[in-house]
Amino acid sequence: MEIGVGTYLKKINRSLIISKIIEHGKISRADLSNITKLTKATISLQVANLLGEEIIVESQQEYNHVGRKPIMLSLNAGAGYAVGVDLDYQKIIFTVSDIMGNPVYSDTLKLEKSNYDEVLQLLIDHIREYKEKYSTSRFGIVGVVIGIHGTVKSEQTIGFVPQHQWYNKDLKGDLEKKLGMNVIIENNANLCAFAEKVFNRHQSENLISISMYSGIGLGVLINGNLVKGYQGYAGEIGHMIIDPNGELCNCGNSGCWELYASEVSFFKQLSKKLNKPKLTYKDIENLIMLRDPAVMIQMEEFVSISLLV
Ligand SMILES: [Zn+2]
Repeated sequence: MEIGVGTYLKKINRSLIISKIIEHGKISRADLSNITKLTKATISLQVANLLGEEIIVESQQEYNHVGRKPIMLSLNAGAGYAVGVDLDYQKIIFTVSDIMGNPVYSDTLKLEKSNYDEVLQLLIDHIREYKEKYSTSRFGIVGVVIGIHGTVKSEQTIGFVPQHQWYNKDLKGDLEKKLGMNVIIENNANLCAFAEKVFNRHQSENLISISMYSGIGLGVLINGNLVKGYQGYAGEIGHMIIDPNGELCNCGNSGCWELYASEVSFFKQLSKKLNKPKLTYKDIENLIMLRDPAVMIQMEEFVSISLLV
């Protein structure tokens, strides 16, 4: 379908207006016109449409001076929701956020299996639940983003997930077929870098973000774009070999950095030292308060090995 110039311009203006409302949180029509350099008539028409579609809402600004309180425009946070999924090794964390990115619900599921079809079914069941739960909002669940602890190719298929031993899986395609909604899959460290930009460092187009959870990942953002490298291999620093004669990693190599410096490795090594098979965050916190020598040494080692690069 061919789009006319007028329609195209309207679309661009609409995105510009929405992006400025998001950036400022609350903004008046007059300020929108000043910032975007669009005429007051254009702003007025576009804002009326956005209000009609319930994408934005009006509110009155608290104002101490005499006179009319300015009418402010902001995004209608509850108009729609998005599901974020952290598909980790032994757990899956689901977070539902409103369209402003505020988390409204979170659930952690213990994951005791690695079979792709079984994990896929778990994801489908949970996401369907949220789809139903939030169906009464204007746009319902508008999309799903899945953070993968492994390589994701440019066409959004999984290359390799070492901890589950998954190769070449089309998780996006499999989920979209069953759920009938938009699904984005991306490496979790890349998503962390992107979140840093969106939520914390709006002005920064260039940054790196290191995530240390079950593994170690690096997200790189250059000129506002994620750098993924060949087949999504950029940023796989957790599998950098620091001891060629070291422990065997599930990526197939030996002595990878994340075997010694990830959160999982910290818990594993400490469990062995203390002869306590199951350690929780609370246990560690208590032991640190008591300045337990084994924990203090382990912490020292963890910090120094984490600072290797
Ligand atoms: Zn490895």
